[in-house]
Amino acid sequence: MSEPVLCIHGGAGRWSDEIADSALGAPVHAGLAAALAAGGALLAAGGSALDAVQAAVSVLEADPVFNAGRGGALTSGGWVECDAAIIDGRDGRAGAVAGLRRTRSPVAAARHLLDEGRHVLLAGAEGEAWLHQHGVEVCPPEWLVVERSRAELERWRAGDHGRRGTVGAVALDRAGRLAAATSTGGLTGKRPGRVGDSPLIGAGTWADGAAAISCTGLGEAFIRAGFALRTALAVGGGATPAAAAADGLARVSGFGGTGGTIVLAADGTWELATSDPAMARGVWSRGSSQTWIAR
Ligand code: ASP
Repeated sequence: MSEPVLCIHGGAGRWSDEIADSALGAPVHAGLAAALAAGGALLAAGGSALDAVQAAVSVLEADPVFNAGRGGALTSGGWVECDAAIIDGRDGRAGAVAGLRRTRSPVAAARHLLDEGRHVLLAGAEGEAWLHQHGVEVCPPEWLVVERSRAELERWRAGDHGRRGTVGAVALDRAGRLAAATSTGGLTGKRPGRVGDSPLIGAGTWADGAAAISCTGLGEAFIRAGFALRTALAVGGGATPAAAAADGLARVSGFGGTGGTIVLAADGTWELATSDPAMARGVWSRGSSQTWIAR
């Protein structure tokens, strides 16, 4: 029996500007709290870590404040392309999707693949059409686009390449199982077709028997750093989540990137770390939750 824990993030990067404006800070905290409540309720009732991370991430996807699902960052073409992944640390079952343009909950699409068990990663229009034929909920592409993302794309076109990004969750359930999930619109102004670290199992998302990890930040640097799998191996080898996260973020900075990560170990210890000025994040344990934005 383990004491269940849920850690989430709502992206590292431009949140420092957001909290200067209290009108935006409040919805970020509210969204994080709602996600912790959804996932925490499942864990408190004896539910699985896998269901809890999916529930928490799907709340953040539906919230236009966060860069995932509705409210996702826009490509240079002006539309949203979503990436997501989910993995069960108990047995390594995993599902991931990339470049979805018409799917309401990308993490639900990833979960569908995990449950089906044939492929791990499905991408592009044909993959998306198959998911919709098999019950994954479709949405109009315009539903994913919100005014704030349009304004960010305008700023990006004017040369301001600040990042606001990605949501994720890691959980430990009563049975001692770990799971992780990540969902993102990616980087504002990204080339259509670009895929980041979030849906790559072992880069932006990972869980095994030792640790569960979800990342946010400059995806190219997290991929090159082999972030999530290497961080779990470090924890499995005896490093604390804090030390493993710090090492990983140092490797990311060696590839010219910044970002953040949430790391939860099988013994219930955790770290929420960022090398950006801020990261929206929160923890639920023993029935109570806490959220933060500033570093
Ligand atoms: N890691 C995400 C990506 O590169 C973006 C972010 O977290 O800001 O797609």
